[in-house]
Amino acid sequence: MERTLSIIKPDAVAKNVVGKILTRFEDAGLRVATTKKIQLSQADAEAFYAVHKERGFFADLVSFMISGPVVVSVLEGENAMAKNRELMGATNPKDAVAGTIRADFADSIDANAVHGSDSLENAEIEINFFFAQREIF
Ligand code: GDP
Repeated sequence: MERTLSIIKPDAVAKNVVGKILTRFEDAGLRVATTKKIQLSQADAEAFYAVHKERGFFADLVSFMISGPVVVSVLEGENAMAKNRELMGATNPKDAVAGTIRADFADSIDANAVHGSDSLENAEIEINFFFAQREIF
């Protein structure tokens, strides 16, 4: 059984599709082990995306991620990390396969609806960034 971190980004929260996105996870056999809506601070977003700090899009990414509340969840299930990445679709919604979350709900590479951990090692780091063990069931 694996756990991975999902973030429903500010664009999707603003579009009122939180329930639709969580339903996709559940319909694919993943379980929402915990979830909460939070407003990230600039420091939160910079720390969360620290691996990208040298990239040209870092400032845009941080300002987008703090532009409104996000919904962070821990997803649990068999192959949860890879399954979530498959459900999300490609980073750029223009390249995302039809029926994926980004194909259906994302507008651009910045406003691309969801984040998902890209390795089990990062999943553990990202889950611990947002949640205490006693919040995950
Ligand atoms: P992900 O794992 O599919 O979310 O993609 P990455 O970890 O590579 O990038 C993190 C986030 O940075 C993406 O979800 C995008 O929102 C943003 N991003 C990545 N590449 C680019 C880019 O070339 N331009 C812009 N503007 N944003 C990008």
